[in-house]
Amino acid sequence: MNNNQPGGWAGKILHIDLTNYRSWTESTEQYHQFIGGMGIGYKVLWDAHKDGAKATDASTPVVLSAGPLSGSGAICTGRTTITSLNPVVKGHLITDGHFGGHFSPALKYAGYDAVVVVGQSKVPVWVRIEDDVVTFENGNDVWGKGMFDTFKHLNEKAGANAQIAAIGPAGENRVPQSTIQTQGGHSAGGHGAVFGSKKLKAIAVVGTGAVKVAASNEEMRQLDDHILGIIGANNNGVVPNQPQSWAEHHSKGSRWRGGPGVTWGTSDNPIEVGETPWNDKQKVGFRTSMAEMYFGREEANKHMKRAGGCHSCPIRCFCEMKNPRMKKKYKLPTEHITNVCLGFLDPWYAMGKPKHSEKRTDIQTVGGYHMDDMGVWSAYGQLSHLMREFSKRDFWKQLLPAAEYQAIDWQAWKDQDASVLGDFYQRLALGANYQGSNYLGRFLGAGLHNFINEKGQVLDIQAVLDGRDAAVMPLVYALESDGSHKGHEYNVFTDSHIKVFNRSMVGGVHHASESAGQVGALLNTVFNRDPQCHSHINLINSGLPHAKIQEVAASHWGEGAFDKVKHYTAVNPAKAKFAKWCLVKNVLHDSLTVCNWVFPLLVSPDKNRSYLGDSSIEAQMFTAVTGISTSEQELDHQAESVLQLHRALTILQMNNMDQRASHDVLADWVYDMDPTKQFGDEGTIKMDRADMVEALDLFYVEMGWDKKTGAPTRATLTKFGLGFVADELAKRNLLPA
Ligand code: SF4
Repeated sequence: MNNNQPGGWAGKILHIDLTNYRSWTESTEQYHQFIGGMGIGYKVLWDAHKDGAKATDASTPVVLSAGPLSGSGAICTGRTTITSLNPVVKGHLITDGHFGGHFSPALKYAGYDAVVVVGQSKVPVWVRIEDDVVTFENGNDVWGKGMFDTFKHLNEKAGANAQIAAIGPAGENRVPQSTIQTQGGHSAGGHGAVFGSKKLKAIAVVGTGAVKVAASNEEMRQLDDHILGIIGANNNGVVPNQPQSWAEHHSKGSRWRGGPGVTWGTSDNPIEVGETPWNDKQKVGFRTSMAEMYFGREEANKHMKRAGGCHSCPIRCFCEMKNPRMKKKYKLPTEHITNVCLGFLDPWYAMGKPKHSEKRTDIQTVGGYHMDDMGVWSAYGQLSHLMREFSKRDFWKQLLPAAEYQAIDWQAWKDQDASVLGDFYQRLALGANYQGSNYLGRFLGAGLHNFINEKGQVLDIQAVLDGRDAAVMPLVYALESDGSHKGHEYNVFTDSHIKVFNRSMVGGVHHASESAGQVGALLNTVFNRDPQCHSHINLINSGLPHAKIQEVAASHWGEGAFDKVKHYTAVNPAKAKFAKWCLVKNVLHDSLTVCNWVFPLLVSPDKNRSYLGDSSIEAQMFTAVTGISTSEQELDHQAESVLQLHRALTILQMNNMDQRASHDVLADWVYDMDPTKQFGDEGTIKMDRADMVEALDLFYVEMGWDKKTGAPTRATLTKFGLGFVADELAKRNLLPA
């Protein structure tokens, strides 16, 4: 294989200017340093940076990108990265979201590694990409339609094979909490409003080409066999969650849930899953059974139709559910819904988390349908946590106009009646276009940062939304049974129930200190939204005995890298190394694009390997597909350059080098929760302020960032081929001395 003509990459980036209805291409080669996917996205956003730019400005690019592995058939490589500025985030800082499905393989088959959209159409449009032919189609007949009708309509026009990325009414109305989705309930949060601001309803892709793979079919098959021998279930659970005759270990927390007693009850031919031995490759797709997690066994068995998932993924972590009550009782056009994670959990969070039951199943399926159809995002639960906790505390009565408050059926919310969820998600999606006063929907649909001050106190949301000067709302509540909070000045940063973990970040705790002490906390400081990082979780939730996980962690990052969950010790250099490794692998995956909900495979279900996995799989896949012989260390180095670019762009956008003081700041509840417990006591996720200062010190050193500010130094940027970034930051006095 000639290194000048590598496999993997399609070779072109497609640019679309909606203001002038123009498209053109450029070579992908200049982005190879940044691998692909997220790396392309960050570089495009760096090049396009304008001071004070907003997510919804016409000149703000939105980048949908694939990695060099996408479409190659290599295992779990079908994800798409979406990068843009994010209106949910204070300062509209850069974020990326991801969806699975089949969009990025289709884009590659059409000949493109990424599509970059700028400008603003005068009328609603959708863009049709059929290999080399790019056309701008009138979108009037899909504008205003829900996501499901949009997919149906555009598949009729662009062909049943077209892969579509679309927005729902939330995106059209520029609601910050909005998604871009592709078929099957796969969603990427925060950037729907960017599409909406461009009047871009959808991009439909038909690709008839192929991805060039350097390795022979036999070599790819051998690599597949190796991966299938060491892969587990979702989150790389490598032992089953219940005893099975072949298994030495089992663990309740493992997502390897397929086993005896699990059935797919509404399949056309109902399936008894039975035992799922680790070496039965035909049953890899039965292991995960996420329905078990979201609906409980009884309800899952009744309603699970089949598993679904992304291109070239054997894990299939999506669950398609059939709930006849969706049609009969709730008058929806379908009784089927497929989703994973927040699509099912968010409505349940919003309604107060009832236990597994028909009621919960209805909330999750009906709520999931409306949320997906409207294209609403939740910033990893922020929206639903606010809805639930403000309801519990009776804050809505204080925050909403009386007429609006009275128009909402609060009794139905108390009864956890799924029939109100249609109205709820419409309020969110329609925003100011909802009939009648809709401060509730406009508040929840926006970024929380608009409605709080520096201390985290909630402002008068009506004044904010009306564009008036807003005072702090004197919210008073008594949540605890002893009334201990009564009369306390409310602020979201002290409230562990709202779960804003990082003051500068939107969204809730996402595998932070509740999973991995300081390691998780550090991960949650770096990105500008919840980090969507599962590198650590794929080890911690593997289900292996604690001693084994500790041994694996020590062999990679040093003694003391990993503590028991909720029983933490003081920070040490090994933990900082672990945190950095997690982030680098996360960025690597979103750049290649490989699923970070399964990889990296540090451990395996194979007892003969002493349960060890192979963390160099990604490099092996990269080498096989591109033909460029690359080691794990070399590839990680490239991924780290993408991470450094992200940090630099965040500094540039904030015009503030002092990330320690302005960006990497945890909310107070993280330190002050559980007043009767100390940091380090068993059972608490509470962190210690001085310990976290040291954790940041150690982490900054690992990252090559200035210890005082947390900003990358010139030496670090140069090491990663980012001299041009250092020059720009230096010009603006944003480079540490
Ligand atoms: S594990 Fe789930 S998200 Fe990951 S590639 Fe497979 S189906 Fe997609």
